[in-house]
Amino acid sequence: MRGRAGQDQRKRRLARTDGLCERCEEKGFTVFATVVDHIDPLALGGSDDDSNTRNLCDDCHRDVTAEQFGHQAVGGCGADGLPLDPSHPWNRGASGTPQGSKV
Ligand SMILES: [Zn+2]
Repeated sequence: MRGRAGQDQRKRRLARTDGLCERCEEKGFTVFATVVDHIDPLALGGSDDDSNTRNLCDDCHRDVTAEQFGHQAVGGCGADGLPLDPSHPWNRGASGTPQGSKV
């Protein structure tokens, strides 16, 4: 959904948790949600219904997306933050990004 209706829908969904990340809240953290995530991904046939959404922060969204699409991920990053693709320049170890530069 795009435009005004999509914005309203997003706002309404975020308001359900006072704009906070549900996954962090379960762990006792208070983090603002930035993403309305589909629990059953639309790409995998999930419904675009409020009951199929949850509010997540960037980190949680990355985690759950990796879980949901992990099996079929081409590209993307591993738990260490490095690309999974062995041919990616970062994994060739030549010039480029120093190891452990992640904040
Ligand atoms: Zn979170």
